Amino acid sequence: MCFYDQYIFACGDWKWGNFRQHCQKEYRQGETCGMKLVNGALGVDGKCKMCEKIDTKLRRKKAEEDRVARWKAEGGKYRASIEKSEAAIRALNYEIHTLETERRQRSSMVGSTR
Ligand SMILES: [Zn+2]
Repeated sequence: MCFYDQYIFACGDWKWGNFRQHCQKEYRQGETCGMKLVNGALGVDGKCKMCEKIDTKLRRKKAEEDRVARWKAEGGKYRASIEKSEAAIRALNYEIHTLETERRQRSSMVGSTR
């Protein structure tokens, strides 16, 4: 088992950082034994890439929803725009769902990085 830094993001997700130290099992120069252990955890400002992507899509979805609400309040004038926005919201929902599934799968792979 070899020791690595661990980066912990504001969202609670984490990733491996730099290699720090060999374990006693591993004597080959420049090699690591494949098992990773945490050397030290470093807090990182901001969320991980995955969560940032999800947040961006959530913001876009919110903006679309606000527009739809505004158009609906103005009566039937904007039906075509509303339909287009609602299709965009459905697409965003699907993308968000896909990203969240991926994120869950990634966090359940903790410990096996190969
Ligand atoms: Zn995250």
